[in-house]
Amino acid sequence: MEEYNSVNLYKIKRLLKELGNVAGRGTELISLYVPPRRPVYDVINQLRDEYGTASNIKSDQTRTHVQDALTHIMQRLRLFKQFSDTGIIIFCGYVPSEDNPVDEEMKYYEIVPPRPVLTYLYRCDDHFHIDILKSLLREEELVGVISVDTSEAGFGIISGDRSETVEVITSGVGSKHRQGGQSARRFERIRENEINDFFHRVADHAKSIFVDQYTIKSLIISGPGMTKEDFYKTDYLDYRLKQAVIGLVDTGYAGEEGIRETLERGESLIENLRLVKEKRLIERFMIETTKRDGLAVYGLNPSLKAIKTGNADLILISEDLDIYRIEATCKSCGYQAEKYSSESQLYQEKIQTNQSVCPNCGKSVWSIKVEDVVDYISDLAGQIGAKVEIISSKSEPGVMFKSFGGIGVILRYRQNGINS
Ligand SMILES: [Zn+2]
Repeated sequence: MEEYNSVNLYKIKRLLKELGNVAGRGTELISLYVPPRRPVYDVINQLRDEYGTASNIKSDQTRTHVQDALTHIMQRLRLFKQFSDTGIIIFCGYVPSEDNPVDEEMKYYEIVPPRPVLTYLYRCDDHFHIDILKSLLREEELVGVISVDTSEAGFGIISGDRSETVEVITSGVGSKHRQGGQSARRFERIRENEINDFFHRVADHAKSIFVDQYTIKSLIISGPGMTKEDFYKTDYLDYRLKQAVIGLVDTGYAGEEGIRETLERGESLIENLRLVKEKRLIERFMIETTKRDGLAVYGLNPSLKAIKTGNADLILISEDLDIYRIEATCKSCGYQAEKYSSESQLYQEKIQTNQSVCPNCGKSVWSIKVEDVVDYISDLAGQIGAKVEIISSKSEPGVMFKSFGGIGVILRYRQNGINS
């Protein structure tokens, strides 16, 4: 798998959103999943067979549409010598036109998935089959957490950008301090038995949650004091879970609070997880913003200014930013103007731009290009060698970052007046 790239992933997620909304007129939308190492000619041959089969379709329009789409895919595939290490995914077909829903236009999407396609799939349907692609995006492996002390145990999942408590059970084990008149030995024995029973229950719950319900690859056991060690030493835990343990983490509490703490304190254990990376990025950004002469700016305009002047080292963008760039070029004199708009305002802004008068030549003939600001900035970043990181919107640091306008830049050098 190629190195995790948050921009690529963002683009695929956005495409998924778009594809999920597409509905075909008939059974004419083609989804194709090709595993790596499948010979190109082999796929083309199969599609040629499908082309032949399609000639039996009764509706003239549907038949033409399916055969057009197949022809288009085969033409594209002929340009390949072989497929990528992860294979290829193609969606193709006639969909209602964006500008005029009565019209239809042929759309073709070609995706190199972040993880390998496992099985070949060809589907012709009234919608695109995007579920497999979705499952290939779940790049973050799930980490299970058991946060346990003698009074309770919390079972949680850490998955990339968040932690979640699945269940909390209580032990019913009494306090460490014995009542007056009770034999110390007897008290100790009863207590040990109770804890032992509790550990059995914890292990049973762990199996049903982490083996049957979720499939985790890593497990962290946390909690205050020695209880987690004692639990870990017992052989009650399912052997698969025991093998998955990546570490024991000291926390102040067990249960739900303990799971949250595990995220904080178990950082070194789950370093490969996206959340930790994001947290570090946001921390670095925060440090720069709070310093008096810090190297950070935020908000759309200051960020764009830094990027356009080549003074951006790292660009952070919230996945929820939702801003589009409208570029209008005067068809008469070549004058260019740009404008930024939220998705909800986009339609209105496009109309206004279309009706506006060119300040240079006074005519009103515009060619308009609209793109997601993430694409625009990624291109600019590539030109100046800056790195772009998309920040998830659900994690705690991600939510905080949104309050800075959802976009920020760590500068290469201090620049006067850049915040204006
Ligand atoms: Zn003009």
